[in-house]
Amino acid sequence: MLIHIKVKNSFSLLQIAPTIAAYFHISLDSPARPIKRVLEFAYARYPAPHTVVLLVVDSLDIELYYELGNEFSTLHRLAEQNGFMLECETVSNHTTPAIASILTGLRPESHGILTSADAGRSTCKSILEQMEEQGRKAGVVIEEKGTEPLIGRLSGVYGISDREDIVEYDRLITEHTISMLNRHQLQLIFSHIRTIDRFAHRGWDLHLAARITDRNIGEIADAVSGIEGLLLICGDHQAHLNTGGKGVNRKEKVPLIVAAPPKRVQHGTGLDYSSRG
Ligand SMILES: [Zn+2]
Repeated sequence: MLIHIKVKNSFSLLQIAPTIAAYFHISLDSPARPIKRVLEFAYARYPAPHTVVLLVVDSLDIELYYELGNEFSTLHRLAEQNGFMLECETVSNHTTPAIASILTGLRPESHGILTSADAGRSTCKSILEQMEEQGRKAGVVIEEKGTEPLIGRLSGVYGISDREDIVEYDRLITEHTISMLNRHQLQLIFSHIRTIDRFAHRGWDLHLAARITDRNIGEIADAVSGIEGLLLICGDHQAHLNTGGKGVNRKEKVPLIVAAPPKRVQHGTGLDYSSRG
């Protein structure tokens, strides 16, 4: 007789905040469990917690991750050579509640954050606020309106004003994430890039969107390697594809890439400049 044992190989976006909380020994009020594999990987690299960058790539679902594998070469390299990828179930089809769930570990019906106005009124505390209250520094680089409830509550808050040129918007998010990473000694930085989502909504070329996004991810990964940090990258919901009315059933899963980007070998003179000055 065959006995099928159901092995859990599917995770949820709700588990990201509890995993970060466990890594930093922070308490967080979420019913979701930390992801053991992420903690084992993180502690194997850095027994004492190092800086974590959490990057949400809007609309990056599991199908786009594979379909645009050529364009997402950096992302796949991070997953295959410097870490791993887990498929996560989504909790909402909309950005604001999905990101609130990623940051709180609570389902949308529990956190009640459906619009950015709700975020300002909510009494639910995100992992970012819990870190600060429990003695660890956290920062965000996100759309300007989303920063309002966080000003004065986090060590690093940088807002980028929303604009029609989403490629420029993501450039600014990328540059300021890197700058926050290098200038301030924060332990958790959250940022959110949106080119894929915008291109998907408008039916524009997703190959181009993926190339642009992959370049931004590569620059952030280089900066994370420079400070010996950990990089978590995930989607927020399945892509809203403009399929011209043809209904396509996409899986409600997004990738979570967990990586410790390696320190880049400096080619050049071979001289050690570290003792200068
Ligand atoms: Zn979204």
